[in-house]
Amino acid sequence: MRKRILLLEDEQAIADTLLYVLRTDGFEVRHARLVSEALEALHGEPPDLAILDVGVPDGNGFDVCRAIRKTSDLPIVFLTARSEEIDRILGLELGADDYVSKPFSPREVCARVRAILRRSAPGRAAAPAQAAAATTEGSPLQLDEASQRIRCGGLPLALTRYEYLLLATLMRRPQRIFSRRELMDLVWGDAPDSSERTVDAHVKLVRAKLRERGVAADLIQTHRNMGYSIQI
Ligand code: CA
Repeated sequence: MRKRILLLEDEQAIADTLLYVLRTDGFEVRHARLVSEALEALHGEPPDLAILDVGVPDGNGFDVCRAIRKTSDLPIVFLTARSEEIDRILGLELGADDYVSKPFSPREVCARVRAILRRSAPGRAAAPAQAAAATTEGSPLQLDEASQRIRCGGLPLALTRYEYLLLATLMRRPQRIFSRRELMDLVWGDAPDSSERTVDAHVKLVRAKLRERGVAADLIQTHRNMGYSIQI
């Protein structure tokens, strides 16, 4: 069945190229130019993924994201024109799965959309037996590679894509110190616009989520001038 995408983008030229590429790729795309149109579209048949421009004439993509998150965990990709918006996307814990900075190549957006949908496809959960949950004795965290989830005290953590990849990377090699550069390559390999600040911002977000679950603050350790490790 064709996957449905909600695209919020007020700039017609950008919308046109994205619509063309996404539709050529076989997606069914509903295009909204305003927050009000996007919210209206959500009342109909729910999309499988939303691409949200941050700045639109009657509000911003964050409003639509919040509205979606009240009822759904469908993947959300932000389109952003300014670096300070990236800080907001990362900092507000809006639950975005990814973001793309303008100017971008429509092909890149398409590739990210496909990757995210592959990852969130229901079939992924019913993965082969050899990919069973990996549990470290005595750890408060359990990494389940098959469903790409990390459990804390038995309950899944609500992590965005990069938060999951970051925490999973650390968990696969407990105690090992990863430099920021290594983490950028391992976690953000497909995001050429990432920086060391991106790594720090995500570590902060993951720590906050762990703290909410009562996990000791020093589980992810900062090693001065070296990087990060996880103590499990
Ligand atoms: Ca805009």
